[in-house]
Amino acid sequence: MNKHSKIYVAGHNGLVGSAILRYLQTQNFDQLLVRRRAELDLTRQADVEEFFAQQRPEYVFLAAAKVGGIHANNTYPAEFIRDNLLIQNHIIDAAYRFGVKKLTFLGSTCIYPKLAPQPMPEECLLTGSLEPTNEWYAIAKIAGIKMCQAYRKQYGFNAISVMPTNLYGQGDNFHLENAHVLPALIRRFHDAKQQKLPEVVVWGTGSPRREFLHVDDLATACVFLMQHYDQPEIVNIGTGQEVSIRELAQLIKDIVGYQGKLIFDESKPDGTPRKLSDVSKLTQLGWQAQINLEDGLKHTYQWFLANQNNIRE
Ligand code: GDP
Repeated sequence: MNKHSKIYVAGHNGLVGSAILRYLQTQNFDQLLVRRRAELDLTRQADVEEFFAQQRPEYVFLAAAKVGGIHANNTYPAEFIRDNLLIQNHIIDAAYRFGVKKLTFLGSTCIYPKLAPQPMPEECLLTGSLEPTNEWYAIAKIAGIKMCQAYRKQYGFNAISVMPTNLYGQGDNFHLENAHVLPALIRRFHDAKQQKLPEVVVWGTGSPRREFLHVDDLATACVFLMQHYDQPEIVNIGTGQEVSIRELAQLIKDIVGYQGKLIFDESKPDGTPRKLSDVSKLTQLGWQAQINLEDGLKHTYQWFLANQNNIRE
């Protein structure tokens, strides 16, 4: 990939795609190709094929996906499995058919078994049952990995798959119900501070542990792997560090400056108990996360404050 390569970022309005696009722009890549959903519906195969036939991108970052937090995954299972399968099938197939040189498929560490060894190495894929709250999304992502591997094996298509841990940062979805925990709590603590509410509810027991990677770090990792990794095996992208949901909530409470109490609603699901990625493979390849959680959270809250009137939901 060089500075004049034609690069398509699928999903450029989302958290991940927008970060990849920003990073490529700062690195002076000058042929970046994007399409808004209204211009190109990725769930329609004929439209995707026509786009690839006309535009002939050389590199593709497949960051378009239907994503959401534990509640959204549990509530809209049909949409999660259908939309993700459609989008990825269409893009991977069209990329191969229309001569793309290399494609990077974005998965998730929720593809690993619910009770995977911690930290989770790439090799534990398909060694046990999935976490039920997000199995629909996970099955779609596993199908995407297998499709990349199959197209490499049968057709020699250079598709790689990367598995980011829980992501956050500017451009996130801050919906109170459907978002992931980190943006949902920023929003809830912020609203509670504004409205001077005495307490804020955090879902579950607070004991699950999660790893959080800032999306600007993810973007540099994706570009790094696009340039330096050409193997069928998946690669985890994370920090290798985790916090409990209770610790995360406390950290966000302090950053937002909320003075009230924290309440844990144990009627809500905890999801998988731990989800820490083993990042030794990526470290050996020469990449490491740079943004620590506290700095990343402060930056994300600043972004939320500056953009709260037109954030995505
Ligand atoms: P997960 O990593 O796939 O489980 O996705 P989430 O980011 O949605 O949830 C992570 C953990 O945070 C789970 O244990 C949730 O129960 C917990 N959590 C606590 N409060 C919230 C909240 O307001 N929204 C979400 N989405 N999760 C919450």
